[in-house]
Amino acid sequence: MKTVTIGDVEFGAGTFPVIAGPCSVESDYITHARAAASSGADVLRGCIFKPRSGPDRFQGIGPEGIPLLVRARDVTGLPVIAEPLDADDVKLLDPHVDGFLVGARSMRNSRLLQSVGATGRPVIVKRSFAATYDEWLGSADYVRTTGNDEIILCERGIRTFVTDTRNTLDISAVPVLRTRTDLPVIVDPSHAAGRREWVLPLAMAAAGVMADGLMVECHTQPAESWTDSDQALGPTELAHLINVTRQLSAVSRTLTGQARQAVTNRPSTTR
Ligand code: PEP
Ligand code: MN
Repeated sequence: MKTVTIGDVEFGAGTFPVIAGPCSVESDYITHARAAASSGADVLRGCIFKPRSGPDRFQGIGPEGIPLLVRARDVTGLPVIAEPLDADDVKLLDPHVDGFLVGARSMRNSRLLQSVGATGRPVIVKRSFAATYDEWLGSADYVRTTGNDEIILCERGIRTFVTDTRNTLDISAVPVLRTRTDLPVIVDPSHAAGRREWVLPLAMAAAGVMADGLMVECHTQPAESWTDSDQALGPTELAHLINVTRQLSAVSRTLTGQARQAVTNRPSTTR
């Protein structure tokens, strides 16, 4: 398994790092970043550009959010990732972030994948809500054409006939991709659940299948979030989620190792 490092945080090294932060960078971002750090987050989400379903919706705080990213990094000591929507955003963000996020809507944008790849920074490629594993891995290949191999895949749910959740978390993606790639695979339970009360159980499922970490949305006043307010966790809920999933991930790895050992050591029977 390949290890991909964002700042000094390793993904794919057998630990269970958590990327957290509000859906959008808001004017109170420093408060949100501090709270995420105190809850145990390892990496901050710092999304100043937002790909929205309609042009009349909030499109992100934009370039005026850059000083907030810089300050959040300073005060928390945590690395920051951000989502560019085009090559200009990549240029603007590059000096101030530790890694890039390519969102579900942009996963098929080959030029964008190459422009983030060319920075040499680690890239998280989220799965489009209608992408097969091959299409998703094809997007990772576009990043690789630039010589950048620092790629993390992120399952965030796909579109199915189920409408209760925002998306259907395809938890199978984690074990299946293990057979197809050596890249770390993390899970975003927030955009799959769409409702905060379902984020913890989906995150636990990710730990159970030995994903390489999580990306979770949080806010100091979840219901007041400028975007995705229904799925944001408060600081206490985030701390609880991190605590539970980190233990669960370690237990899953230990039990799987022990079970494998037990099977290997079983005396062979004659038939
Ligand atoms: C996000 O991470 O805020 C986001 C827009 O997610 P996705 O690209 O998975 O929809
Ligand atoms: Mn969001």
